[in-house]
Amino acid sequence: QKAEWAKLVNEPTVSKDGEHVELAANIGTPKDLEGVKNHGGEGVGLYRTEFLYMGRDELPSEDEQYEAYKAVLEGMEGKPVVVRTLDIGGDKELPYLNLPKEMNPFLGYRAIRLCLDEQDIFRTQLRALLKASPFGNLKIMFPMISNLQEFREAKAILEEEKKALLENGTTVADHIEVGIMVEIPSTAVMADVFAKEVDFFSIGTNDLIQYTMAADRMNERVSYLYQPYNPAILRLVKMVIDAAHKEGKWAGMCGEMAGDEIAVPILLGLGLDEFSMSATSILKARSQIRQLNRAEMKELAEQALQLDTNDAVISAVKKATSME
Ligand code: PEP
Ligand code: MG
Repeated sequence: QKAEWAKLVNEPTVSKDGEHVELAANIGTPKDLEGVKNHGGEGVGLYRTEFLYMGRDELPSEDEQYEAYKAVLEGMEGKPVVVRTLDIGGDKELPYLNLPKEMNPFLGYRAIRLCLDEQDIFRTQLRALLKASPFGNLKIMFPMISNLQEFREAKAILEEEKKALLENGTTVADHIEVGIMVEIPSTAVMADVFAKEVDFFSIGTNDLIQYTMAADRMNERVSYLYQPYNPAILRLVKMVIDAAHKEGKWAGMCGEMAGDEIAVPILLGLGLDEFSMSATSILKARSQIRQLNRAEMKELAEQALQLDTNDAVISAVKKATSME
């Protein structure tokens, strides 16, 4: 099977009935690019920049960040690279920030909340990204957006930094798409409103599932409630994709679900444009999508949305795709 998959490294990701989707990779450092190439990634759908900030005693400098972002953009040779701004907090702590302990870190001071408050940290990262932007196809994505004010504020800060750089004579790419992660239910519910202002969505199912089901993604005792195929999740995913398309925007997914063999047929049927996953999952997903008919998967997805449980959806997918 692996040998069959390997033949698909340079093949496009098209369904049997000729619909193209993009299979991108999730990365944490520029070193991960080799894996992306070896596995035929069509882009980077999620660059988790937290790792630049972790395992050290102080914040990374603007220059250090610039070098990392430039390396990734150059390495991808013009293919799309979605860089997520700092998503610290939750399970990812930065001891040197000396933040107070919280009762519910996953519901607390993290990601864009911290960045909009500690603006020096945020602005430094944005400047590094803007300076690196001429070296490839950069898209900027804000994590943990829960309401429109946050997005507008973050975007305004980005625009301010861009203006300042341009006034300084620094070169910045002409058009940089700016999007958000949809990983909080309030944002999925308001996707139609967001879609008028963002350039794209990337659905972060790792968090979206935990927040929708109120089941900690790290807690074994409630892991039975962490249900990716629960129709509640599928309906939110559909809302986000439909809202994007209505405004002519694209919708991707960068949570684990994007590379999951039960989820892929449904996501294809729902019209997801970009699937971002660990590089090692790409060829398997490409092979699977090439054997699926998007029109048929559309019917499967419609059926799944009307089912009642996670298990019922799993059975329906297996049946429709002859997995059993
Ligand atoms: C997500 O929440 O789905 C996601 C991709 O982000 P992370 O796993 O880094 O929280
Ligand atoms: Mg997340």
